[in-house]
Amino acid sequence: MNTLAERYAIVQERILRAAQRAGRNAADITLVAVTKTWPPETVVAAYEAGMRHFGENRVEELGEKRPYLATTLPNATDITWHLIGTLQSRKTAPAAAHADIFHALDRLKIANRLNEQRPESAPPLPVFLEVNTSGEESKSGFNATRWEADTAQQDRLREIVTAVTTLPHLQLVGLMTMAPWDAPQAEIHTVFRRTRELACWLETAVPHLTLPHLSMGMTDDFEIAIAEGATHIRVGRAIFGERT
Ligand SMILES: *Cc1c(COP(=O)(O)O)cnc(C)c1O
Repeated sequence: MNTLAERYAIVQERILRAAQRAGRNAADITLVAVTKTWPPETVVAAYEAGMRHFGENRVEELGEKRPYLATTLPNATDITWHLIGTLQSRKTAPAAAHADIFHALDRLKIANRLNEQRPESAPPLPVFLEVNTSGEESKSGFNATRWEADTAQQDRLREIVTAVTTLPHLQLVGLMTMAPWDAPQAEIHTVFRRTRELACWLETAVPHLTLPHLSMGMTDDFEIAIAEGATHIRVGRAIFGERT
């Protein structure tokens, strides 16, 4: 059994090699260490091992761990807290208060509420629009299953992006997607590639839009995601072990 520091080093090495294979700079890839279900002490240990970006999928856990870290490590002002999971509308206020960046914007109602509830003292909340490019029923996200061929889907996606970009307290930074569960590698490549292509298309379809970031890739598929242009990978088990 490796230590946390060793597993982190292995993941960093895998990121570096995947970036090299893709002709990319590893410094352009942010590793979000997904600490969900792990106790706050584990996040402290992760910080001490060098990690600076933490991902939680439940607002309640984020609301507990963030103040715990602030108290336990008062000098750790360089932490970025990523909220990566689907948000229920009744939990937007704590999300707007505690998240530094939100990866799973999947409804306009959520966007409007986060925009209203983002504290005035905080910068605009960077958000990723979650898209379902795979067609897997269980996946959340705006429907982009046939975006290349379906003009109604294109119009809808363009409308959504335009609506989000008009909200002054949100900053749309890119697209997020999840690969289908247990799919062959080639299919995962396709889902990630089509997500990147959708971001490029939206940049041409919506005036003045730039979508510099792509949040995709988890423990089982982050190397594929890097090959397809991911700038943010969200990795839990490869760093912390299996969740119980
Ligand atoms: C849990 C989770 C991850 C990390 O998954 P691992 O398989 O542990 O790497 C990434 N993204 C989201 C949205 C998650 O909920």
